[in-house]
Amino acid sequence: MMTSQDYIAREDKYGAHNYHPLPVVLDKGEGVFVWDVEGKRYYDFLSAYSAVNQGHVHPAILKAMIEQASKLTLTSRAFYNSVLGEYEEFATKFFGYEKILPMNSGAEADETAIKLARKWGYKVKGVPDNEAKIVVCENNFHGRTTTIVSFSTDPSSFKDYGPFTPGFIQIPYDDLGALEAALRDPNVVAFLVEPIQGEAGVMVPSEGYLKNAFRMCKEKNVLFMADEVQTGIARTGKLLACEHEGVRPDVLILGKALSGGFYPISAVLADNDIMLTIAPGEHGSTFGGNPIAAKVAIASLQVIIDEKLAENAEKMGEIFRNGLKGINSDMIGIIRGKGLLNAMVVTPKNGKVAWDVCMAMRDNGLLAKPTHDHIIRFAPPLVINEEQVKEAIEIIKKSLSLFE
Ligand code: PLP
Repeated sequence: MMTSQDYIAREDKYGAHNYHPLPVVLDKGEGVFVWDVEGKRYYDFLSAYSAVNQGHVHPAILKAMIEQASKLTLTSRAFYNSVLGEYEEFATKFFGYEKILPMNSGAEADETAIKLARKWGYKVKGVPDNEAKIVVCENNFHGRTTTIVSFSTDPSSFKDYGPFTPGFIQIPYDDLGALEAALRDPNVVAFLVEPIQGEAGVMVPSEGYLKNAFRMCKEKNVLFMADEVQTGIARTGKLLACEHEGVRPDVLILGKALSGGFYPISAVLADNDIMLTIAPGEHGSTFGGNPIAAKVAIASLQVIIDEKLAENAEKMGEIFRNGLKGINSDMIGIIRGKGLLNAMVVTPKNGKVAWDVCMAMRDNGLLAKPTHDHIIRFAPPLVINEEQVKEAIEIIKKSLSLFE
């Protein structure tokens, strides 16, 4: 029988080394739990970067997927199919937009939004050819494509991948003055922003930031594009993180939990005046909006409503943050977050860093991973209950106590 070590050695030998996983080999998942190949159970406090908000292998999503997979999986957009329209109607009504453009990965949805903003800039706003600019934030994370890493400020994302796509203006996050200055350029077509910067370490902007940024964009006829790939679909205690400030983005970018973790599904939503600037043949994807994806996405969104996952994220998040704050450890720095998207800044002690804390938590039955060297993100599936949150806090406490 293969051990965890054997699985790790095999990946190491045959797979590209573009990730550095925590040494644990997962084999099974259900709800908030995952099991490794040796049968040990863990709380999953990463949820595949918030893709499994609905919990692992949710039965309703599984059923929808199996039913559709045994009927029709892919037709390509060269033809119509019997479920895409159902999904488009469901999702646009669900989020309150006139149109949806389905893609697969989060990065593709961001790429789509970028192309859409440029198209709108030339066709509607009247920006001179090839002069469109998009304002982005420092420490952003929107994915890994060549254009997206072109405006990353993280060297591990962009270094050695040049030459870079031009047309982006980087400004500090949570800085309205910088945004105001950037918006003076008449060729700016859009502001692309994460309502909370997840990968940067769960950076929650000041209250009023999104609302004011949205207002400033409106004043300058600039599209406000929210990347809710990580923050969306109930993660922060609302269906969308922008709702905390009453903002309805002009362009909404979704991914991850749109699939409940079953399948790569992403989407861009906008109204007709924006979306219809892209004409037939000008953008697309072989798998975008395929019948399985359509059925899986409908089921995934339905679970969010049926199980009141936004409300649960809000409540459990509060209990979780209070629990963390109650732990007495000098390795705990700042604790921040919204709903069930939270982070703890780790103060190194005797050479022990966030990675060591994650290893101790793993040994004690909870999986989380550092983002940047000193921050641990805690983002369990949103189906977690109070008893489980409390047990998780006990595991974190016990793990930190090993370093006292
Ligand atoms: N946008 C945000 C805010 C993300 O957090 C991520 C992934 O972490 C992406 C985009 C990219 O998504 P994907 O990895 O599916 O391309």
